[in-house]
Amino acid sequence: MDGKELEKYMRAGEIAFEAKKLAEKIVRPGTPILKIAEEIEELIRSRGAAPAFPTNISINHVAAHRTPYVGDTEVVPEGAVVKVDIGVHVDGYIADTAITIVLDDRFESLAEAVRSALLKALKKVRAGARFRDVGFVIEREIKAAGFKPIKNLSGHSLGRYQIHGGEYIPNYRDALAIGRFRSGGAYAIEPFGTNGRGYVVEDRSSIQIFALRSIRGSVSGFEAEVLDVIRSRFSTLPFCERWLVDLGDIDAVRGALRGLVAKKILTQYPVLVEAGRGMVAQFEETVYVTSSGVYITTNPELVT
Ligand code: MN
Ligand code: MN
Repeated sequence: MDGKELEKYMRAGEIAFEAKKLAEKIVRPGTPILKIAEEIEELIRSRGAAPAFPTNISINHVAAHRTPYVGDTEVVPEGAVVKVDIGVHVDGYIADTAITIVLDDRFESLAEAVRSALLKALKKVRAGARFRDVGFVIEREIKAAGFKPIKNLSGHSLGRYQIHGGEYIPNYRDALAIGRFRSGGAYAIEPFGTNGRGYVVEDRSSIQIFALRSIRGSVSGFEAEVLDVIRSRFSTLPFCERWLVDLGDIDAVRGALRGLVAKKILTQYPVLVEAGRGMVAQFEETVYVTSSGVYITTNPELVT
């Protein structure tokens, strides 16, 4: 094991934990989601790290991939279920963590079911354990509380500058998930639960998160300029238009992003909404697995 690597994962996790605490404080009815995202990302940068992806602030039946855009006027509504999903990286080593803030007591039991599913799932994580053991526990816990896990969202391995490292950790009893946690691996465990149908669909009407996918293809002019900045600023990590406003007029930036998507140089992450418009809760922690134990990098209050 590379000691420096663990150190960087731990530092990223520590900052992400601090950012979560800030989110709990500032998510209130009437607060603009743009302000919430900016404050969280500012905190991350002030600690000498960088966001690993745009802060996701997904409300009620929106499950994931909602990040404020330039000029966004959405505010946290009364009685909302607000998922805040935060990414921090230190030298490419990522902490990926999420909490659900419930502003209506009626949805507390949903959040509690998902939180409890995550805690039980984390106890299953150790070098050599199968991914499906985690999925089994998550499904059992969420169903026992009368809700459904969201089956087409999953946990994942983390790589350096890679938010999805190629391995998937299911949120339901998936017999095919025979992969195992390995020593020296970092993973995000992230159950989602709902009172809806139990799966999400894409809302492609407004796509807010992008990532570099390929450096092939010929681009010129402003697109080339934007692409250069994306490569040097974000590498292969997801980003959003808010992080490119210094490049000029926002409509020109948006045009360049659309062009780069059309050329398949960028990939996009559509907003994901619950198929039955059910309420969605999510909790997520990042773990680093060693042969002697598991570090929950994003939460010093938890031990496995
Ligand atoms: Mn996340
Ligand atoms: Mn994740």
